[in-house]
Amino acid sequence: MLEKSMQAYKEALQVIPGGVDSPVRAFKSVGGVPPFIDRGEGAFIYDIDGNSYIDYVQSWGPLIFGHADKETLDAVCNQAQKGLSFGAPTLIETELAKEIVELFDNIDKIRFVSSGTEAVMSAIRLARGYTGRDDIVKFEGCYHGHSDSLLVSAGSGAATFGNPSSPGVPADFTKHTLLARYNDLESVKKCFEASDNIACVIIEPIAGNMGLVPAEEDFLVGLRKLCDEYGALLIFDEVMSGFRASLKGAQAFTSVVPDMVTFGKVIGGGMPVGAFGARAEIMAHLSPEGPVYQAGTLSGNPVAMAAGLSVIRRLKANPELYNVLEARAKGLVGGFQKIAQAHGVPLQVDVRGSMFGFFFNENPVKNFDDAKRSDLEFFAKFHQEMIKRGVYFACSQFE
Ligand code: PLP
Repeated sequence: MLEKSMQAYKEALQVIPGGVDSPVRAFKSVGGVPPFIDRGEGAFIYDIDGNSYIDYVQSWGPLIFGHADKETLDAVCNQAQKGLSFGAPTLIETELAKEIVELFDNIDKIRFVSSGTEAVMSAIRLARGYTGRDDIVKFEGCYHGHSDSLLVSAGSGAATFGNPSSPGVPADFTKHTLLARYNDLESVKKCFEASDNIACVIIEPIAGNMGLVPAEEDFLVGLRKLCDEYGALLIFDEVMSGFRASLKGAQAFTSVVPDMVTFGKVIGGGMPVGAFGARAEIMAHLSPEGPVYQAGTLSGNPVAMAAGLSVIRRLKANPELYNVLEARAKGLVGGFQKIAQAHGVPLQVDVRGSMFGFFFNENPVKNFDDAKRSDLEFFAKFHQEMIKRGVYFACSQFE
């Protein structure tokens, strides 16, 4: 059933670490074969063996209008014909910036980069430059990109994907990170009491990398107060939730206003785009106006901007889409819950706009006769069974 993919996987393993550039743990850990994808259309992807899958991952989040969306494709093709990259200012970059800035009272200016990771790293460098401090508070379970281990923490990502990145990370890079527990204000207070050098607190306000875990309102309010009291910046990492949970991302669900926001995924419509934004006073610390050097060969790349503009304009013109997506997601997770209940599997579900997640908060392995009592094997088996049934979805283990 996955013969060609099996061959492609073997070849990939020779030249690509792990054979895949993606944290699809279940594939790698148990010798599962990732389907190699040939094409996508709407909600479906098709592998090189001719199998089709309903795709709940949508390229790890960006494709809110689905695969091979005609309007995005037209925008990309039109722009590509005019030139792929200029390394010089373009109107299209300003247009996309305007569309985003208009939505947020707390964002006057935005800078484009090429990925969510880069957005987070740049935001943290800016927070350090702005405050003149070094330390960062981040949360166990929140994911901020593959360079967590350099700038944010050796722990994140490791916790989510069980792929320890800490060994070998020089202590210098990690010593400034204070790790707090998600949704536990006391642990954040302790960080502030332990250090007078905290530049920022970074959080996924709707954590999307450990199931779907929205932060509680009281907790966010408490974070805001602590940041104000101690003069630290509050960063919402909305790479996952931005334009997915709502047009305003997590900010539609909370009264709390962050100092800085990072974006990625949906704003690029499938092209490599990340961004970070804040009030003008903070952004003024960026080069060329300020001392924090920030630049990228492909930042604001016109083809990527064209994709983003096409998506963001349509979302802004049709905000009711989020209600439709949320209603669908609720129907879907409701169905999952019924099945889980019928089999006595404890399942927790949550929905925010088009984001939905469910997680097993007890070891569910007992329900699979032939799986051993290990979460990893359960996840692997679960994943593979779903793939066999034509369902492509993201599955990770939070320890
Ligand atoms: N921040 C969050 C909240 C994310 O979910 C991700 C990716 O999943 C990132 C940062 C990193 O983004 P990228 O994979 O585009 O580098």
